[in-house]
Amino acid sequence: MDFLDILKYPESSLFEPSKQISDIDAALQQQIDQMINTLYFSRGLGLAAPQVGDLRSFFVYDLSQADEAKVEHSGPIIVLNPEILETEGEETADEGCLSIPGYFEKVSRSYRVLMKGLDREGKEIRIEAEGLAARLFQHEIDHINGVLMISRISSLKRDIFLRKFKKQNKNAETG
Ligand SMILES: [Zn+2]
Repeated sequence: MDFLDILKYPESSLFEPSKQISDIDAALQQQIDQMINTLYFSRGLGLAAPQVGDLRSFFVYDLSQADEAKVEHSGPIIVLNPEILETEGEETADEGCLSIPGYFEKVSRSYRVLMKGLDREGKEIRIEAEGLAARLFQHEIDHINGVLMISRISSLKRDIFLRKFKKQNKNAETG
């Protein structure tokens, strides 16, 4: 099985917006399969294409291992060209990111969302979700837009993150 390298903060392409997918070809199918392998290998709940350096609008997810597991979010589920159509409410909860290993912080997100996109065959899908699944959709669509969760926290918390990150890197260089 092939695994892809997950890019880590502060890799510059994590901040670039992705392009809509118009050709669903064999090469894309292969990339989707590799993304699924990488998702399970890294034990993440979701993985967006920009996290492996692929600036195309899609993500894969599987919430079957999550505490709030629901059958409709057991995957792998693939969403191409995702778009949020409706949001409702707000919830603040801990969030992590495979591109920022070991970092968890509270992030406010819409509690319920309605998302549309395409499945891997190009058929339109609409998924309504709340709680963790809704949070995941917003997190992955942020990746597709070149936005990381550290842009969704307060500037004070961001300063603390940046200071810690610099310190860690300094330690890595010296020891
Ligand atoms: Zn992430």
